[in-house]
Amino acid sequence: MFKQNPHYGVADRQQSALTWRFDMNKVVKFGGSSLASAEQFKKVETIIRADRERRFVVPSAPGKRSSDDTKVTDMLYACYELAEKGQDFTGQLQAIKNRYLEIISGLSLDLSLEEEFQTIEQNFRNKAGADYAASRGEYLNGIIMAQYLGFEFVDAAEVIRFKEDGEYDPELTNKLMRARLSTVESAVVPGFYGAYEDGTVKTFSRGGSDITGSIVARAIKANVYENWTDVSGFLIADPRIIYKPEGIETITYRELRELAYMGASVLHEDAIFPVRSEGIPINIRNTNAPNDNGTWIVESTCQKSKYVITGIAGKRGFCAVNIEKEMMNSEIGFGRKVLQAFEENGISFEHVPSGIDTMTVFVHQDEFMHKEQKVVSGIHRLADPDAIDIEADLALIAVVGRGMKSTRGTAGRIFSALAHANVNVKMIDQGSSELNIIIGVANADFETAIKAIYDIFVLAQL
Ligand code: ASP
Repeated sequence: MFKQNPHYGVADRQQSALTWRFDMNKVVKFGGSSLASAEQFKKVETIIRADRERRFVVPSAPGKRSSDDTKVTDMLYACYELAEKGQDFTGQLQAIKNRYLEIISGLSLDLSLEEEFQTIEQNFRNKAGADYAASRGEYLNGIIMAQYLGFEFVDAAEVIRFKEDGEYDPELTNKLMRARLSTVESAVVPGFYGAYEDGTVKTFSRGGSDITGSIVARAIKANVYENWTDVSGFLIADPRIIYKPEGIETITYRELRELAYMGASVLHEDAIFPVRSEGIPINIRNTNAPNDNGTWIVESTCQKSKYVITGIAGKRGFCAVNIEKEMMNSEIGFGRKVLQAFEENGISFEHVPSGIDTMTVFVHQDEFMHKEQKVVSGIHRLADPDAIDIEADLALIAVVGRGMKSTRGTAGRIFSALAHANVNVKMIDQGSSELNIIIGVANADFETAIKAIYDIFVLAQL
């Protein structure tokens, strides 16, 4: 069914496994918008052919072709919902099939997905599960991609394993993946899913093809994991707030974690872990602008970031619970008792700045709102405070940068910029790593604050 890889001659193939096979290889993952149509597939092929190290490809399912289009993954979920309710889903399945047929004919491939769709229809009728349904998006795109490139198709269900409790099994996966990929010259491994030992398909959370790319990169000890998407890497700040923000050339895994946690998104949060354990850099690239360098995500670097800060991100919708108690600082166990009241109600906290007689717990407003009185009475019961005061509608902003460690006055600059912009700072928390400064402001001041910080560190330096 699949052609041989045209990159490699007979001499190449005769070399022994592992000596050259896993040397200088790149894993290339393409997101849904990079594979939404035959046109996009052609761009992807050109990218792959431009570098013979690009031997392991991880595709997403076809994404949106335009802003009002629907991702195939969403179509599959909707289609399966009908199947599960025992309703007719054949029209929806046909619409999904049409998306693939359009790609196949646009690429002039001699490939039929007839049998695959019959199996899928049958499995939908047998209620194979929403994970199985969603995974077919990547599975079918993988088959097309493999045929188009002449690479081998390796079903992720064979090589990505989940444990009985539903947790991903990194060590077994690494073993299976490494063994399987050592037998091939080049392969397409569909993203987003794996399987339990009995073969039942399970997906990662949404956007999980990024994780698959990272898993494959770890298994073959790639020299780089290229993640191709529709933007040229990370931006210093959210473009919905800052007009055309500058891009980030290099960012460390830790900086990225801090920014991602605060809402900056391009890459799935969990995609860092597999490659991080091997020190493999990730390069975020743009399929529609392949000559842009994109962003490098690395373990550590002596390369200075262009500015003192690497990025700014933030989120609205926090509450601050202020707890006061005289002599709190000398009461051993006070903090633990307060936090226990949150734990008992299943609420996680974000930050806990404290003073001599006060301690503040920042929580997500939507999680906290319905349980606030339970938490308040819990704190009274457990910690016997003098007073509790709740402030709602706050935003947290993280200013992140490895450059802050070696630069004096960063916090000073942030606060004078915010003072000039008339923003009242409610909280400041600098992590001991000196990698980030977290600032709490009113929701209403969120955008003004981000603009002021961006201006002082980026625009003022240009
Ligand atoms: N197709 C899946 C989603 O839409 C996974 C991915 O694209 O990474 O979430």
